[in-house]
Amino acid sequence: MTNIKWYYPVSLAEASSLLEKKNIVPHGGGTNLSGRDLSRVDGIICLKKLGLDYVKKENGMIEIGSMTSYAGIALGLKSISPDNILVKSLQNAANTPCRNRITIGGSISFAPKWSDVIGPLLALEAKVVITGKKEGEFPLSEYLEQKELRQQSLITAVKIKNFPHRSSHYRDVKTKNDMPLFTITTLLKMDKDLIKQAKVFIVGTSERISRLIELENYLENKFRSAISEKEIQDLVKVSFNDSKNANTDYLSYKAKIETVRSIFRALEIS
Ligand SMILES: Cc1cc2nc3c(=O)[nH]c(=O)nc-3n(C[C@H](O)[C@H](O)[C@H](O)COP(=O)(O)OP(=O)(O)OC[C@H]3O[C@@H](n4cnc5c(N)ncnc54)[C@H](O)[C@@H]3O)c2cc1C
Repeated sequence: MTNIKWYYPVSLAEASSLLEKKNIVPHGGGTNLSGRDLSRVDGIICLKKLGLDYVKKENGMIEIGSMTSYAGIALGLKSISPDNILVKSLQNAANTPCRNRITIGGSISFAPKWSDVIGPLLALEAKVVITGKKEGEFPLSEYLEQKELRQQSLITAVKIKNFPHRSSHYRDVKTKNDMPLFTITTLLKMDKDLIKQAKVFIVGTSERISRLIELENYLENKFRSAISEKEIQDLVKVSFNDSKNANTDYLSYKAKIETVRSIFRALEIS
């Protein structure tokens, strides 16, 4: 068995220089790392002493430190943005012990198909702040697509705009403790009864993350009284890989039904 060395940097500069070494990985909440094969890992960087556990509001933006847990985010946002989609998505994710450990940084880096944070952050057009081999602020969509942004770099924070929105986050789970088979995130900017902007993401599809652009275009500039259940269903064109838990046609059909419900919930039409 390999002896894994633990490092406890106290500054970002120290953490960045550790990332230059080979086979060294950062540790967020450890909920994914602890279950992985670590035979090729020589060292683990503990991020606890870097002061990255915070939620703050600044210049119309909300900044979340990468070591903030799911529970910490839901709690921190309740006072500064109580209707935020992240409060809805994270207060129901996983289970209580996990919510106290899972960090936003580790969850963006790992980005599993059952993620409760990726859909909401994409809908909020989040930016990811990184340091290390690559430095700067990048749209989350770019961070997820570009491998080079993820190599030997540390996520230090996530930034989102603080704006009023209506939203809904659906988790397709068999039992309360299961990881979702897929999630649906709906985020709407309204002008009274008019939908000014719509974002709809389904995470967990065969393309992993699906943005429903046709549906967004259909919803935008429509009064809520003018939207039709049937037309929404027709615009949900996602597929799923077969899994032992459910068959692909069933999941595609369920995604249609639940997307309608998710939009109606965000609009508060019962
Ligand atoms: C039983 C269980 C149920 C779960 N259910 C859900 C669920 O319903 N919904 C959900 O969204 N999630 C759920 N999760 C969490 C999810 O599966 C991952 O375990 C989690 O997102 C990883 O976050 P972490 O902070 O623990 O990261 P870690 O395990 O510490 O790290 C994960 C990866 O990210 C890297 N990393 C960590 N921090 C950083 C950083 N700051 N910068 C760059 N790279 C970093 C690590 O090196 C590693 O490669 C569940 C986990 C468990 C164990």
